[in-house]
Amino acid sequence: MAIKSWFRGGSSKQQAPQEYTIDDLIVLEKYDEASERLRARLSVNPNDLHSHLKLAEVYAQLQKFDKAVDEFGYVADEYASDGFYDKGIALLSKAMKLAPLDSSLRFKIEKLQREKGMEHVRSMALEGLQKAGGARAGTSAVELKKLWHHLAHGTLVQHLSGEQLKRLFSSMEYERLESGTQVVEEGSQNAFLLLIVIGVVEATIPDGGKMITVRSFTSGDILGDAALLERGSWPATYRTVEPVTALRLSRAGLEATLVGNPDPRGFLDVLREQHNDRDVAATIRRLRPVVEIDERLRKLAADMVETMHAAPGVGLAAPQVGVDLRLAVVDVTVGEDPSQVRILINPEIEHREGLETEVEGCLSLPGITDKVDRPAFVRLQATNLEGERVALEAQGYLARALCHELDHLDGILFTDHLRGLRKERARRQLKRLAAEREEVLV
Ligand SMILES: [Zn+2]
Repeated sequence: MAIKSWFRGGSSKQQAPQEYTIDDLIVLEKYDEASERLRARLSVNPNDLHSHLKLAEVYAQLQKFDKAVDEFGYVADEYASDGFYDKGIALLSKAMKLAPLDSSLRFKIEKLQREKGMEHVRSMALEGLQKAGGARAGTSAVELKKLWHHLAHGTLVQHLSGEQLKRLFSSMEYERLESGTQVVEEGSQNAFLLLIVIGVVEATIPDGGKMITVRSFTSGDILGDAALLERGSWPATYRTVEPVTALRLSRAGLEATLVGNPDPRGFLDVLREQHNDRDVAATIRRLRPVVEIDERLRKLAADMVETMHAAPGVGLAAPQVGVDLRLAVVDVTVGEDPSQVRILINPEIEHREGLETEVEGCLSLPGITDKVDRPAFVRLQATNLEGERVALEAQGYLARALCHELDHLDGILFTDHLRGLRKERARRQLKRLAAEREEVLV
């Protein structure tokens, strides 16, 4: 195109000398004529955003506010789809002044603001994912978009900022696993965390001669948070049941994410949030009840009673002392009355009744207390140290202590029962506690 036509004057040369340009018409306040000319131009070139924008201004001058709002809205959408969210929002704000009663505009602005935020998260995350690919092949733009598509609705993306996602993904490594690959073996202390992007991984345990599936995990699920963050062991053997794309975070990777991290506590909290390892461990405890009551088990129970009394506490569950068994001890007299010590093996609640709300704490969560709803009465069955299955009925404080300890066997903490603001408060306290532990560990 010749330079001459860049000048506005250039086009008028081909037109009759008495004819005004559209801008002239606007300056001369000949809005009807201007709108006609603009519409004619748009009928030839409907995507000409500048003409849409001028038409919006002209309609506003003509007090045709509905039409002006439509034009502004059209251009705002186009801007947004090209990533110019601020321009789009500015236009919609203009439109809102013309039509203050049109509430749809406010929603559109909010939508663009959300998309703008998400776009930022997306671009940061993609930068991180690009780095996760390292020098390996398969990190084309298309591939990155596919990975993002699978991760976009997961917990991590919902709860981490764009900067934190970039930090995390940059420290992770891609892993492509064939169907039937063993990811990790039960009991392994291999310290890594796996974020599944595409595909399915199953937690399995041996049962008789074959492996049975405890739980399946897919896109967005995190495995190994206990192994990596709590230095625990893997509760089951994990295998892929179809080709899997995953991101792996090693201990070195974790340390890299924490160096200079503006909110390491919040970051770790999000990694822990799914606690899939804890849930798998609880399911397995249920599938594998204690079968043999031997000297080791008696010794463990005696040690747990001693620990509980020393704490002092009114109950303790085996998983709290790192033993993966459905075993708990309870003594609401804290050693005052030896006849009140209860040792519960494979306990199951059979009946609950009523509701009481009282303050509770937990030996595993020092310094955190809150009101928790519990049944006023429970009846349960448990095996005692003599190997007999016995029934136990309890109410009030004892019922509460029993429910609390049995929850531990199912991987549930009392803070998991809290809702709303109480939950938020406990979450903040837990975050602090977790951070203190992490400081000791790392
Ligand atoms: Zn507890």
